[in-house]
Amino acid sequence: MKCQRCSKSAVIFQKYSNAHLCKSHFIEDVERKIKRDIRKFKMVGRSEKIAVALSGGKDSIALLYILTKIFRNRTDLEFIAITIDEGIRGYREQTLEHAIKLTNELGIKHTIRSFDEGFETTMDKLAAKKEHAACTLCGVLRKNILNKAARELGADKLAIGHNLDDEAQTILMNYMRGDIDRLKRMLPGTIQPGMVPRIKPLRSIPEKEVALYGFLNDLPVSTDECPYAGEALRNEIREMINNYEVKHPGTKYSLLGGFEAISQFLRPPETKIMLCEKCGEPGSEMICKTCSLLGRK
Ligand SMILES: [Zn+2]
Ligand SMILES: [Zn+2]
Repeated sequence: MKCQRCSKSAVIFQKYSNAHLCKSHFIEDVERKIKRDIRKFKMVGRSEKIAVALSGGKDSIALLYILTKIFRNRTDLEFIAITIDEGIRGYREQTLEHAIKLTNELGIKHTIRSFDEGFETTMDKLAAKKEHAACTLCGVLRKNILNKAARELGADKLAIGHNLDDEAQTILMNYMRGDIDRLKRMLPGTIQPGMVPRIKPLRSIPEKEVALYGFLNDLPVSTDECPYAGEALRNEIREMINNYEVKHPGTKYSLLGGFEAISQFLRPPETKIMLCEKCGEPGSEMICKTCSLLGRK
């Protein structure tokens, strides 16, 4: 198959747009969508310090690479990377290595924080207790420590590598749980006290295309998978959306577009943000989710 924009051979067929693209036109297409979203949602402002959440997995690796490429001429901006070591044996070692390698190559300041240092425990120890679902617990703790690190480093924004698949799943999950407050908090530009505003530059890029982009640019790919099984509802929804996408190409974009269209009718979340009595971090209750999950007294 030939690329529809030139005569080179295609590396991808985008079913949702009915387009065959060669390597350079595919890369151009991915970067165009990201630049469009950055402008549309005003993700990056003048002279900002942008912290990138760098797990070392394919999404965050691609995110840091793309951001530094797109903004290579913007000397007013500063990019830094934050990696969280959750303490998961046999999983974090390789991704951590990739994160260190990429930040060295790009000359990006890199901060590594761990659950061990932040909470005096590890994900392996917490999971062994079986008190809470591992992924829910890990997600809450990671978000807490990432935000704290970004704030302490003086970041104006925290960039997260969520791709189109992640966003479509989260939107549908929130609908299915009837959790409209959480849906509202997904709106780009939502400001909450004590929280470094999060931006998601990859939100319009399908997961498979993020992987292909990384492969075509020789970015490190991790083969290690997290040993914890994932959130049950999310796993079901992922499978369902992927099946729909095959039969009805464009479903993931429709979920995102539909959410954007109704978002103008949503008022900001009603839950007030307060500072936790135990740790001083922002949350929606007197004792934050992190402290209550850790059983801090
Ligand atoms: Zn081409
Ligand atoms: Zn707390």
